[in-house]
Amino acid sequence: MILTISYAGENAQNIGYLFRKNPSRPQVFELNYGKAYVFYPEVSAQKTTIALLLDIDPVDLARNGSGLFDYVCDRPYVSSSFTSVAIARIFGSAMSGRSDEFQDLADAKLDLSATIVTLPCKSDISMLNRVFEPLGYRVSFERFVTDERFSEWGESAYINLTIEGKVRLSDLLRHIYVLIPVFDRKKHYWIGEDEVDKLLRQGEEWLKDHPEREFITKCYLAKSRSLANLALNRLREADDETVEQEEINKEKLSLNRQRLERVIDIVKKCGAKSVIDLGCGEGNLLSLLIKEPSIEKIGAIDVSYPILERAKEKIKYDRLCDSAKEKLLIFQGSLTYKDRRFEGYDAACVVEVIEHLDLSRLNAFERVLFEFARPRYAIVTTPNGEYNEKYENLKGGLRHSDHRFEWARGEFRDWANRVAQKHSYSVQFFDIGESDEKLGSPTQAALFSEQTLERDRRKYKEESRL
Ligand code: SAH
Repeated sequence: MILTISYAGENAQNIGYLFRKNPSRPQVFELNYGKAYVFYPEVSAQKTTIALLLDIDPVDLARNGSGLFDYVCDRPYVSSSFTSVAIARIFGSAMSGRSDEFQDLADAKLDLSATIVTLPCKSDISMLNRVFEPLGYRVSFERFVTDERFSEWGESAYINLTIEGKVRLSDLLRHIYVLIPVFDRKKHYWIGEDEVDKLLRQGEEWLKDHPEREFITKCYLAKSRSLANLALNRLREADDETVEQEEINKEKLSLNRQRLERVIDIVKKCGAKSVIDLGCGEGNLLSLLIKEPSIEKIGAIDVSYPILERAKEKIKYDRLCDSAKEKLLIFQGSLTYKDRRFEGYDAACVVEVIEHLDLSRLNAFERVLFEFARPRYAIVTTPNGEYNEKYENLKGGLRHSDHRFEWARGEFRDWANRVAQKHSYSVQFFDIGESDEKLGSPTQAALFSEQTLERDRRKYKEESRL
């Protein structure tokens, strides 16, 4: 049996990197039941085709096999679960969707086609369309008469199937891996519960929403009713979890939005003309700040370089006009090290960042912000740990794996009051998000305002030094 996969596109030969098979070097792999050959019948910059040829020894199969097959059977010549096992073994890294050098190609939807030769189609032939089309493929197949000399035998159950579509290579391989045995139905190994795991793993992203998911599940599990029920129940649970997760995501999204809008509102009410976003993350606040005409200077820092890159992408930094770029300074830095670049801003925003700092580093942060940078206003937000009781799925844990703490309202107020007093700021507290009578709001915020007297005192000290 032979499986071919073709890619038509720019630099089509690069598909070889995803398969991790060199187009100029045919390879042989020893399998338990025979040999597999990999080679490229066609290599060009416009179109490249890779072939997987299985050479199964029928005698070996009957002698050493599981006793599932006779000497004389179709197994050595058809596309079957042997093919799936070979795909996973030989094209495993392409199936995983990871590539060291060509991740973009692995992530891209490509013009791919696959031809599966001699596929036993034990089902109604229309099932081929009903199974492959919802996954985005065009389906065509070649049929044959069983024997030209005996027309009464009718058409053969074996077909050559071609599917074509714009899909990721890893998805194509997963689809083939699962769907060959769906049409063939004769597994060459004993089917147990681990087959359910395999099906759900390889079908993770597409099976639960497939209109023929029951048919696929039942046939893949070779009609074992108990295993099919197990798999279908797990798919249903996954569905429920998705709905739940979507609800949580929606809530999170709206809380994020409310938080950012509130912070912008406070910044504007303070009359700040220059703002620094400390721990700016992927630039959610930044993208709102740059739209505010009243803000003339913006700084954004984060400790993580890749996150800053994402922030730049988010605000389409490269496409900003010169005057917009001029008022913007994005740089890597840490909130726990004194940095002169943090100075000179009217307002500093520290949105959902302090809970990422180790408690032992909090003191350093306090000095960096309130003693050295000393903005006129500082807006600090953090989760209210008491509110977590409302998130059933947290099961007593924190909202994010990188959070070091999530303070109760009393803890946050104590900290903020102490810091304000020590560094001569006054402080006001805000609730962000829908408030619960007993537990408060999901996000708590504090606005620190520098006490003018202290500012004047410092100014006086500075001037007298001159
Ligand atoms: N303010 C953003 C991001 C919050 S996530 C928003 O509201 O969307 C917390 C961010 O703090 C992360 O991007 C993380 O990289 C950053 N961070 C953690 N420790 C930091 C440190 N010591 N100095 C600067 N940034 C830090």
